Amino acid sequence: MRRVTRKSSCLLVVSCLFVVAACSSQGESQAPSTTGVTVFEGARLIVGDGSAPIESSAFIIENNRFATVGRKGEIAVPAGAARVDLTGKTVMPAIVDAHGHLGFLDMANGTMSKANFTRENYIDHLQRYAYHGVAATISTGTDLGELAYQLRGETIPNAALIRTVGMGLAWPGSGPNDPSRNDVPYTVTSVEQARKAVQDLALHKPDFVKIWVDDRNGRQKKLTPEIYQAAADEARTHNLPAIAHVFDLEDAKGLVRAGVEGFLHSIRDAAVDDEFIKLAKDHNIWMTPNLGGMNRASLIRENGTPEWFDDPLVRETIAPAVIKARAEMYEKRRAGGAPAPSGAQTFDIPNTRKLHAAGIRLVLGSDTAGDSNRWIGMMTLVELENMVTAGFTPAEVIVAATRDAAAVLRLDQLGMVAAGKSADFIVLDANPLDNIANTRKIAKVYLRGQEVDRAGLKAKWQARWNQVSSG
Ligand SMILES: [Zn+2]
Repeated sequence: MRRVTRKSSCLLVVSCLFVVAACSSQGESQAPSTTGVTVFEGARLIVGDGSAPIESSAFIIENNRFATVGRKGEIAVPAGAARVDLTGKTVMPAIVDAHGHLGFLDMANGTMSKANFTRENYIDHLQRYAYHGVAATISTGTDLGELAYQLRGETIPNAALIRTVGMGLAWPGSGPNDPSRNDVPYTVTSVEQARKAVQDLALHKPDFVKIWVDDRNGRQKKLTPEIYQAAADEARTHNLPAIAHVFDLEDAKGLVRAGVEGFLHSIRDAAVDDEFIKLAKDHNIWMTPNLGGMNRASLIRENGTPEWFDDPLVRETIAPAVIKARAEMYEKRRAGGAPAPSGAQTFDIPNTRKLHAAGIRLVLGSDTAGDSNRWIGMMTLVELENMVTAGFTPAEVIVAATRDAAAVLRLDQLGMVAAGKSADFIVLDANPLDNIANTRKIAKVYLRGQEVDRAGLKAKWQARWNQVSSG
């Protein structure tokens, strides 16, 4: 009886939230004019190519693309255009995250399972990316069935675009670490199986062929050079670019020679040497350093929690029960005096610093949702800070997370605020060039010319928490 009462009052609160959300977003919205042209004026504009920001900028959006980009008062604004005043704000291109694992994590309760891998949950993930200013990501090796391939061809309102490698190739057990995804990739123990797997993949036209080469600290066997060479060769036969999850320096060299074009992790067993740098340069290799995102041990403060944990963004998007569990984990570690697990975190930062200084193409890749502790959105944004720790300036990080990541994923329409590009951008309340953590101070996100309904998304997530906690 009591339960019923609580449930219905809960529903009432939820429906109010929806009304409030709808009202506030209407009140704030800058309805495009009848001409369908909108000019955004007054913001500091970071265009995404590393050039100095345009103070007091103006840019025009027409047909969901940037039509003109310049200085306020200096560009011609068509008569009848709607105007949006962004004075005091900073605008940057929406982010592209080149490493993720979508579909398995239920953000409402923190579980990872195959049962969660539904169209609804996958879209929820894409909406969470959008909420945090991410325009596109790629799912790297654990997409079951046809779902991701189908979503790749769709434009979903309030959601990031998805790219996919379908299923990756791994020696049995040496692919994803977490149990829910461990058996998802193609299991390969011979050259013949490697070729067969790539032939099967090719039917789906994945964006890349992904190969795992990692013995997981000696606990697993890993793909042999003969096997990964065959996989890369077969990929080439089908005109598919190949990428790899790598750990060891010697494997990285072998994979470059085999024809892999990019890596989803930095090298973590040893310091990178001149031979690797030369190979990487000669082959124009790219890499997502993947420095642990929000889970990096060095982010933990003396009180046992990382700074991002206090961010209002966390309360907006993460279920209270999930936050509570995380707080308890931090407290347990603090009380035990144990630092957060680090493992590979000895070599990754110095190697990233060295590769960056050598001019190797390093782009943003967070490994979001690869386990239940890698929250969608925050994982991407905090990784930007880790890249600063590894020697990037904030301006360089922004390029790595926008223009350069878009280029790696062949998303030519994304990554910059420039004429002709898709109108995907973030409006920030503070300047990320001063402090990269200001990328978390999000006022608005626009994808494909439309403002993301962040209030509506937040209301949806909060309604779900209430359902989960009362059911
Ligand atoms: Zn991964």
